[in-house]
Amino acid sequence: MQLRIPGPTPIPDEILQEMTRQMINHRGPQFAEIIQKATAILKDMFQTRGDVFLLTCSGTGGMEAAVVNSLSPGDKVLAVANGFFGERFADIAELFGAQVERLRFEWGSPVDPQEVRQALSQDTGIKAVLVTHNETSTGVTNDLAAISAVVREYEKLLLVDAISSLGAIDLPTDEWGCDVVVTASQKGWMAPPGLAMVSVSERAWQAQAQAKMPKYYWDFAKAKKFLDEKGQTPWTPALSTIYALAAALELFQREGLKNIVARHAQVGAKAREGVKSLGLSLFPQDRCASNTVTAVKAPEGLDVKRLLKILREEYNTVLAGGQQRLDGKIFRIGHLGYITEKDIDAVIEALKTALPQAGFSG
Ligand SMILES: *Cc1c(COP(=O)(O)O)cnc(C)c1O
Repeated sequence: MQLRIPGPTPIPDEILQEMTRQMINHRGPQFAEIIQKATAILKDMFQTRGDVFLLTCSGTGGMEAAVVNSLSPGDKVLAVANGFFGERFADIAELFGAQVERLRFEWGSPVDPQEVRQALSQDTGIKAVLVTHNETSTGVTNDLAAISAVVREYEKLLLVDAISSLGAIDLPTDEWGCDVVVTASQKGWMAPPGLAMVSVSERAWQAQAQAKMPKYYWDFAKAKKFLDEKGQTPWTPALSTIYALAAALELFQREGLKNIVARHAQVGAKAREGVKSLGLSLFPQDRCASNTVTAVKAPEGLDVKRLLKILREEYNTVLAGGQQRLDGKIFRIGHLGYITEKDIDAVIEALKTALPQAGFSG
């Protein structure tokens, strides 16, 4: 089966096999070796000298951890949102009592860093900015370099949802001054679901020491203490997923971050070209189209649900639909992680014959 959704993503066989390994003591030396090595490679991939932690949860758990470790109830937060996941980040902060100001952009458009500047210059009480690097729901990659430069200018804390970008799209965490960056094992990392990976900057630690939002499981200070002092996690980790991620990270190290980013850029370009060659249009503007997920506008006459069903049943190909208000309006091709240009060719081939069956003849 061709699983081409933006997570979970397919996993190489050699990594899948890691999942069948016997359990070990998560308080023993063997585990310490695994987590220390994995963390070291992750730091290279995050391009950070700060801390990186493995949390047993999906990406959303990592987002919640970022919020509760950085903020106190009543803190003002600027949540920049241009899609479904940007709204989720804002919802989490709001639920824990932050005063959230939502700076919204049309779905399919990128975040405008100038508007972020304007918002920050008008409200000096803002403590932190929440932003989505790659908005998976719309297939848009935001210009995080420019956004982070503005956030640094105003010296705010910057929390980044990089769940579907990190490990596939360049994100130099330290160079851009990102304070907490979140990603998840089932997106670009060629590993199964079960882990969020988060980086924590020096500034984020200062905020962490003051942050009063409730947290027990998510406490970064506990994570740091256990990792640094014992090579452990505070709570029992998803061992099998860690086995797999550790093996995947060795592949990352072998291929090299530059090559991985270049491969995703090629695959992304190929997906966009392929889609256009079928007479379809991208949902986002070209200049911000993502290299990890391609969102395609459903043209007049196309029944998206039917298309996805035909692809799944007759072509063994699984694509994603649109989320929330984009349901029925777009479909999405995931191309992150264990992916090559050949895989995209196969998707385009399948679409070529499936589209007319679903009501679109180009
Ligand atoms: C997948 C995704 C999430 C949610 O992650 P889960 O692992 O499903 O909790 C959040 N943000 C973005 C940008 C994502 O792509």
